[in-house]
Amino acid sequence: MNKEIKKKRIAILGATGSIGTQALDVIEHHADLYEVRVLTANNQVDLLVQQARRFMPDVVVIANEEKYEVVKDALSDLPIKVYAGAEALCEVVEMDTVDMVLTAMVGYAGLRPTIHAIKAHKVIALANKETLVVAGELIERLATEYKSAIIPVDSEHSAIFQCLAGEVGNEIEKILLTASGGPFRTFSKQQLQSVTSVQALKHPNWKMGAKVTVDSASMMNKGFEMMEAKWLFGVDPEQIEVLVHPQSIVHSMVQFKDGAVKAQLGVPDMRLPIQYAFSYPDRIISDIGRIDFSVCQSLTFEHPDTERFHNLALAFEAMKRGGNMPCVVNAVNEIAVMAFLRDEISFLGMSDLIEKMMSRAAFIKQPTYEDYVATDSEVRCMAKELIKVKTV
Ligand code: NDP
Repeated sequence: MNKEIKKKRIAILGATGSIGTQALDVIEHHADLYEVRVLTANNQVDLLVQQARRFMPDVVVIANEEKYEVVKDALSDLPIKVYAGAEALCEVVEMDTVDMVLTAMVGYAGLRPTIHAIKAHKVIALANKETLVVAGELIERLATEYKSAIIPVDSEHSAIFQCLAGEVGNEIEKILLTASGGPFRTFSKQQLQSVTSVQALKHPNWKMGAKVTVDSASMMNKGFEMMEAKWLFGVDPEQIEVLVHPQSIVHSMVQFKDGAVKAQLGVPDMRLPIQYAFSYPDRIISDIGRIDFSVCQSLTFEHPDTERFHNLALAFEAMKRGGNMPCVVNAVNEIAVMAFLRDEISFLGMSDLIEKMMSRAAFIKQPTYEDYVATDSEVRCMAKELIKVKTV
């Protein structure tokens, strides 16, 4: 008997970005299994329109409302609904025609749509790590309450998730979170003082959006991933160890209480974890590259230097303090990265700014959603002011 396969219906928030475009590549290769129902973007109108014509979703959303007319006109010959604005992002993830939401938007803006998707009982393929950094406790609570599964897309967390398959009831002793070390891994503190945004944007192993690439260079990305791991896998900060692994082949490891360590390996290609999030718990065929162990003969691991990469120490402190402190760090970091990309502050100035804001921002031990929103907005204002008066 020919059993008809029901296609998984996917909404992609941030379709025009690095993760979004790679997700569409995965979907195109598996058109028998997946279909796109929603595509969203912020500014890249031409690419969004091109994607919409190719994948024929029910709906597209352009977050930047000023671009609404252009998108609407460009798709006027097709039966695709066009919406604009942040509110529309929250509405489209609730649609009955959507099974899974891939959160591939960058930054704090991903938080609200993710909350709406969870409350609508959707499966979340989570790339937007800032959501868990800002409000991990709230997100985990809501996901449990609304029985919404969160499947990690970040390569490290996908690796940990894969290591945990078949380990129900077996306690994690330690998570070994690997880090490439970024383009400045071997730079001295003195060299780091004068690195430019052009240098920071050249990641040795991964091709990613600008913000996460700078976060990787400053190792704030790894700090955020520690927080992400804490919430996704329910471990204490002390159970997470960061290991610099420049080859980016071992995507992370889990150590169990008998001392056994499981690792997940693969070529550094984000289409792998994206595809796994889509196909979980199954594995499906892919033509993504394979590891050639005759070429990749040496896999090395070292501890990170938190003196040179102070962001990692700051992120660990924020994670330990909890409350709204990770939200503070995320907000000031977003401002710092944008300022660094515009050459308004130096590379090391980003850590200085974050440290300053961590000591100045009001601490809230048990924040509500409204507290996160207020913290984010206050910290952004204060951080912008500090940059303006050139105190960093
Ligand atoms: P990109 O910068 O490449 O893409 C971001 C996407 O979000 C774009 O589609 C962009 O639209 C959209 N967007 C930006 N701002 C807003 C906004 N305010 N409202 C709505 N949409 C917005 O980022 P990445 O794809 O690299 O990263 C996305 C997320 O995934 C980040 O949280 C990152 O940390 C995480 N991640 C990324 C990895 C990677 O390999 N890239 C790996 C692991 C995690 P437009 O293009 O139109 O401006």
